[in-house]
Amino acid sequence: MTEDVSERVVELAKRRGFFFQSNGAYGGVSGFYTYGPQGATLKDNVEDAWRDRFAVAEGHMEVDAPTVMPEPVFEASGHLDGFDDMLVECPECGENHRADHLVEDDTEIEEAESVPTEEVEDLIAEHDLVCPDCGTELAGQPVEEFNLMFETNIGPGSSQPGYLRPETAQGIFVEFPRLKEYARNQLPFGVTQIGKAYRNEISPRNSIIRVRELTQAELEHFVDPEEDEPPLHRVEDVRVTLYPADEQEKEEGGYVETTVGEAVEEGILTNDWVAYYLGVAEPWYDRVGVDMDRFRFRQHLSGERAHYAADCWDAEAEIDGDWFELAGFAYRSDYDLSKHAEHSDEEFTLFKQYDEPKRVERATVDPDMSYLGPEFGGDAGDVADALERKAERDRAAFDGEDVTVETDGEEYAVPLEKTGFGVEEVTESGEHITPHVVEPSFGVDRTVYTVVAHAYREDEVDGEERSYLDLDPEVAPTTVGVFPLMDKDGMDERARDIAAELREDGHDVTYDDSGAIGRRYRRQDEVGTPFCVTVDYETLEAGTVTVRERDTTEQTRVPVEDLSETLTALRDGDRTFDEVLVAADAE
Ligand code: ATP
Repeated sequence: MTEDVSERVVELAKRRGFFFQSNGAYGGVSGFYTYGPQGATLKDNVEDAWRDRFAVAEGHMEVDAPTVMPEPVFEASGHLDGFDDMLVECPECGENHRADHLVEDDTEIEEAESVPTEEVEDLIAEHDLVCPDCGTELAGQPVEEFNLMFETNIGPGSSQPGYLRPETAQGIFVEFPRLKEYARNQLPFGVTQIGKAYRNEISPRNSIIRVRELTQAELEHFVDPEEDEPPLHRVEDVRVTLYPADEQEKEEGGYVETTVGEAVEEGILTNDWVAYYLGVAEPWYDRVGVDMDRFRFRQHLSGERAHYAADCWDAEAEIDGDWFELAGFAYRSDYDLSKHAEHSDEEFTLFKQYDEPKRVERATVDPDMSYLGPEFGGDAGDVADALERKAERDRAAFDGEDVTVETDGEEYAVPLEKTGFGVEEVTESGEHITPHVVEPSFGVDRTVYTVVAHAYREDEVDGEERSYLDLDPEVAPTTVGVFPLMDKDGMDERARDIAAELREDGHDVTYDDSGAIGRRYRRQDEVGTPFCVTVDYETLEAGTVTVRERDTTEQTRVPVEDLSETLTALRDGDRTFDEVLVAADAE
C-alpha cells in the first residue's frame, strides 16, 4: 500500500460510518460532512483527549459560547475587513478556485497565501495556470478578495447583522471582562473552547480537511508579558521535528530534529510560550495516533504571519505526500484584547498590584466639552472617552497638533489644546495591563482525518486481503466487539450478558451476531476495534471465551470471570496481548 491512502480512507469512512458528505438525498453540498456512528464517537474521543490534556491537565477553564455573533465583534477582531481568501473564477465554466492554491499546486511556491493579489495574478499568467475543472487558461482573470464569513440577520429584518463565527476564539476574547473575574483577576490563566466554526471556503476539498462547517479546539492563554513564564522544564526533553522559516527559504533546506529545550536555547523557537505548547502538543498527537514520522512543526514565513504575532508555528501532517495544517500556535501579543477594548465600552485590562506603591507619571486628559460638544454632537462623550483611553495607552499620540481617536469605526481629530492633556506624578498601588495571549488553535476534523489515515493498514489474513485501522484504544469508537459463535443453544444469551457486564464496567462494546464470524472480525478490524470476544460452546461448557487481538489476529482463551479485568489492562496498556498469551499458555 503506497499511494492513494486518502481515496481508500474516504471510501472506508463512508462505508463504515465514520464521515460522509451531508445531504446526499438532495445532491449534497460541498464542504458539509456528517459524522456517522463510528466517526461521531471517534471525534468525541479526540475532543475528550484534547480536553484532558489542554484544559484539565493545564488547569484551564472551558467555556461554550454561541456560534452566531453580532457584527461589531468582527469589526473589532478584523474579520470583517480581512478574513479573505483569494478567489479566481474560470471565464469558461464559472467554477471558483482559491488562486493561491492553484499557484501552490503548479509552482515551487509552498505558501502563496502571503503573496499579494496582484503578484498572484502575474504568477497565474507566467505559469500558464488553467482551470482544474475544464482546462481553460486563467491568465488575465482578476484575483479578488473573498470574505469567508457566513452572514445572517439576527431577528426579523436586517437591522442587526450577525455572522457565524469563523473561529471559536472570539467567543473567549469578548467575554474576557467576565472571565478574568472567574480567574480571580490573576494572570496567567487559560480558557479553552471546543466547538463549531464556519468558513465559506471557496473550494472545499479533501474530505473533512477543508470543510465549511468545522470543529475547532482552541486555547487562549492570557499572560503577563513582563512576568509570566511557561513551565518549560516540563517539556524541554520532548523531541520535535522543526521546519524553521529560514530552512524553508533555502534551496536545500531541511528539518531540524531536536528537543524543545535545545530549540529554545539555540534561538530556533524564539517565544517560550509557543515552545511550551509545541512541547505539550507533540506527545498529545502521538497519544491520539498521529504517525510522528509524518508530523512536523513548520514556522510561518514572515509574510504569512499576522503583523501582531511575535512567532507562529503550525503543526502539520503528511498524507499521500501532501502536508497540511493540523493546528496553529501563535503568540498574539495584546492584539485581540486591545481591539475589543477600542471597539467596546468594556475594560479588557486587568489590575496588577505592585509589590510596593510607586510614584509614577500619569497621562491625563480633561477634554474641553464646550469645543467637543458643538464639534462632534452626540459623539462628543465617546470621543472624550476615547481620548482618555488613548492617553493611558499611547502618550506619543499627543505629540502633534491634533490627536486622532477612533470610536465605532469613525475617526475624529481633536486639536491638542482642546484635549486638556497633561502629565502628573501620582502614587499608584498597581496598574491596568492588557494581557498578552498565546493561542494554540486545533482543527478537530483534520485531526480525526489524520488519525484515521495514519491508522489505515492493509495485510493478508488466511490468504484474504484485509484492511484495518490500527487505532489506539483511547480514541477507537469501540474497544470490544462481542459475538456469539452462533445464534443458538444459549450462546447468544450468554454473549448478550457478557456484553452488558462489560458495558457496566465501562467498556465501549459492540454486539454483533450477523453473518459468518470471519466477516464480523473484518467489520470490527475496519473500524479499529482493538479486541473481539467470541462466545462459543466452550464458553457454555468451560466458562472461557476467545479473545482476539486486531493487529496480529492472534487469539487466546480467557475465563469469563477474568475477562473484564483483562480487557481493561489491555485497553489501558497495563498488559500486552503477548503477556496475556503467555499467561494463557502457562495455565
Ligand atoms: P488553512 O490555511 O488550511 O486554511 P488556517 O490557517 O486558515 O488554515 P486557522 O485559522 O489557523 O487555519 O485555524 C485553526 C485550525 O482550524 C487549522 O489548523 C485547521 O486545523 C482548522 N481549520 C481551519 N479551516 C478549516 C477548514 N476549512 N476545514 C477544516 N479545518 C479547518
